[in-house]
Amino acid sequence: MNIPTELLHHIDGKDVPSASGATFGVSDPVTDTEYGRVAAGDAADVDLAVAAARRAFTEGPWPRLSLRERARVLVRIADAIEARSDRLAELETFDTGLPITQAKGQAHRAAENFRYFADVIVAGHEDAFLVGDRQVNYAIRQPAGVAGLITPWNTPFMLETWKLAPSLAAGCAVVLKPAEWSPLSASLLPGIMAEAGVPDGVFNLVHGIGEEAGAALVAHPDVPRLSFTGESGTGQIIMRTAAQHLKEVSMELGGKSPCVVFADADFDRAVDAAVFGVFSLNGERCTASSRVLVQREVYDAFVSALAARAAAVRVGLPSDPETEVGALIHPEHHARVLEYVEVGKREARLVAGGGRPAHLPTGNFLAPTVFADVPVDARVFQEEIFGPVVCVTPFDTEEEAVALANATRYGLAAYVWTADLARGHRVARAVQSGMVWVNSHNVRDLRTPFGGIKASGVGREGGAHSIDFYSDLRAVHVAV
Ligand code: NAD
Repeated sequence: MNIPTELLHHIDGKDVPSASGATFGVSDPVTDTEYGRVAAGDAADVDLAVAAARRAFTEGPWPRLSLRERARVLVRIADAIEARSDRLAELETFDTGLPITQAKGQAHRAAENFRYFADVIVAGHEDAFLVGDRQVNYAIRQPAGVAGLITPWNTPFMLETWKLAPSLAAGCAVVLKPAEWSPLSASLLPGIMAEAGVPDGVFNLVHGIGEEAGAALVAHPDVPRLSFTGESGTGQIIMRTAAQHLKEVSMELGGKSPCVVFADADFDRAVDAAVFGVFSLNGERCTASSRVLVQREVYDAFVSALAARAAAVRVGLPSDPETEVGALIHPEHHARVLEYVEVGKREARLVAGGGRPAHLPTGNFLAPTVFADVPVDARVFQEEIFGPVVCVTPFDTEEEAVALANATRYGLAAYVWTADLARGHRVARAVQSGMVWVNSHNVRDLRTPFGGIKASGVGREGGAHSIDFYSDLRAVHVAV
């Protein structure tokens, strides 16, 4: 496989090393050996990137294009992504350890982000009011300026495009800082942008360590919008710095999402959903249903079924199309998840997995792990593990289910399985989370709001919410 061994920044239309010449090493999750060196950005590189973006924004054509012209470029970006979908999946799988079949889905979704926001921007409209017969009041929308986009290592390309598509659609110029553990797929973006006709300076990419390059972007006075996806703790640090400049922030943070299964639910579909919800994408998924709450009448049967399914999940090389769970991103993360597995063994009853699969003696592999009878105060119930590890806890009543679902600091997603639709709606209202799926999972139309409450996020992206975030709305009041 042809893997680039040198990853550079992309500033003002050019691939460039760090001004300091510094680099950092990056490894793949199967061999844990260094495959390349990545430009290690610092404040000087971020300055150059923000200056280029600012020039493109204040002097260049991008924010002044008609909406249709901008939308055409976005559609060409989507085409360029699709034209590279096999390569993209190959790079993503190599760099992150995601199973290849699932990485292919990510490429499709990434292209869809651009097609969708191309449509949104041309279809958008603002309010206008005739006040009596003497006044017209109306709103205009203007792109906010330079947007700083900071993304995590899970599903990196898809999440980068989730921010790039609406910010570019809104007319912003951007500086993207990808995660240091998975910088590879972002290296396709400069070629994609150039092919689509995005003017130089509109899209800038600065690699680097979060505390250096990311922090410099957050602190930069010429970056009025920050869209961040990552850990809740990092989000808090970023908000503190952003507050000094009163920047607008969008925070997509961690989760510990419940999957509530009532006794009347379609048992097999609920088991399928629980398996998919926590073992797809290696469990490294912000909306993972990592706490399964099951009504007592079906609890034992559910635990047995889930344990059997977990044991049958094929763990293997990410590049193998048969693989369902690949390798976790990094040895440090692997060690952290394994530590949680050891904690879980002391706190609850292990019914599947519990360590490295015997047939994979090296690499960041973990057998899908199921803990049953997990108490609410267990660390494995409360803390985000971000791996293929699930907790199962019984409940008796609907009230108890809701109380258990809400008994964490997080509030990103929730899943409810029941044959009683009235109860489904009730629980959807009572559960504290930004998104709820009832008898459904993993289907999310791009028009719907995406985001969390409590420690899972601040603000909403998706649909018009994303466009709102990347633009300034102004009310104009005119006497007629
Ligand atoms: P992370 O917070 O460690 O890093 C995310 C990004 O922030 C990286 O690019 C990193 O370099 C950068 N960063 C780190 N410290 C920084 C600082 N001080 N200033 C500026 N930037 C900094 O998160 P991660 O480990 O890469 O990702 C996993 C986390 O992301 C999980 O908690 C997961 O739930 C969350 N996540 C949330 C969503 C969502 O939409 N809510 C989606 C995916 C992942």
